[in-house]
Amino acid sequence: MKLWKLKRRDFLKGLGATATGAVVSGNGWALNRLEPIANTLNTEYPYRSWEDLYRNEWDWDHIGHAAHCINCMGNCGWNVYVKDGLVIREEQIAKYPQVNPNVPDANPRGCQKGAIHSTAMYEADRLRYPLKRAGERGEGKWQRISWDQATEEIADKIIDIFEKYGPGKLKTHQGSGNQTMVRQSGPSRFASLVGGIQLDGFTTVGDLITGAHLAYGNPLESFTSDAWFDADYILLGMINPNATRIPDAHYVWEAKYNGARIASTAPDYNPSSIHTDLWMPIKQGSDPFLGMSFVNVIIEEQLYRPEFMKEQTDLPMLVRTDNGKLLRESDLVDGGSEEVFYHWDLNNKGSPQKTENKAR
Ligand code: SF4
Repeated sequence: MKLWKLKRRDFLKGLGATATGAVVSGNGWALNRLEPIANTLNTEYPYRSWEDLYRNEWDWDHIGHAAHCINCMGNCGWNVYVKDGLVIREEQIAKYPQVNPNVPDANPRGCQKGAIHSTAMYEADRLRYPLKRAGERGEGKWQRISWDQATEEIADKIIDIFEKYGPGKLKTHQGSGNQTMVRQSGPSRFASLVGGIQLDGFTTVGDLITGAHLAYGNPLESFTSDAWFDADYILLGMINPNATRIPDAHYVWEAKYNGARIASTAPDYNPSSIHTDLWMPIKQGSDPFLGMSFVNVIIEEQLYRPEFMKEQTDLPMLVRTDNGKLLRESDLVDGGSEEVFYHWDLNNKGSPQKTENKAR
């Protein structure tokens, strides 16, 4: 700063001399050699080839279709533009039909995270061939093997498992990009053909709400996202759709046209919270307590619908008073099922009746 105050004038003088020198000498800039252009709308004038850089961005060999569900069940449809065998750009297809005229259409579907998938696909650290561990587990030593060797070795292991333990002992896993038709159907088909077990993908990666897995057996006991449009009241708990469910988020905000009120329970004032009617800044990790307090109010103030509770929840099932667990057939009968529960049948002189667990 001191230098600047003392030498500013000298510095500017020096700079002017240097610039002049550069132009005159012709070493750095060659402005004296530029040809003046009278009319830039003429198609022919010099130095125009750089514009092809931009034209080439819009030049491709063919267009294919793809969905890229790395860890997302959006399955959004994209056009992929291919040149020299490489995907060079993607665009949302945006041609989903409007099935229900009373509900806004799904278009265009897609998000910026998906749009960069073709770039990620060509990242240098992407695994493109089979690697076999060449050291101790955790040592980080790997050896490249051929696809033939990989499939042979895996097939051998599967046969070993079946010979040793019998069918039904092989568990396959479709990876974290679960619930996508492309990625899930292969492992599921394989598991069903060889008598293997295919678990719900969300459950195996710990995604979504754990309690839903435990209570329902799968985490998506509901409907498609367009049903948000019909809701009277939307509680955004453990979800920030404007960031994490981008192609469907519009249904939440469009519900406002129907008079829906929207609340967010999130520790952060996130991109969805800012659009809600009510933001409840709960402490991180306190969601279960908040949820149980909701349940308490619902029961205390009898805000529930008994018909719904009887049909759709496990509240009618009998509970053991000694350990607080649901009464199971295995508690009453030797070799009884762990998945058969009981309810009190008032139409049958109040005797316990079995309830199969098929819907759970
Ligand atoms: S939501 Fe985004 S990442 Fe998921 S499928 Fe759609 S575009 Fe791809």
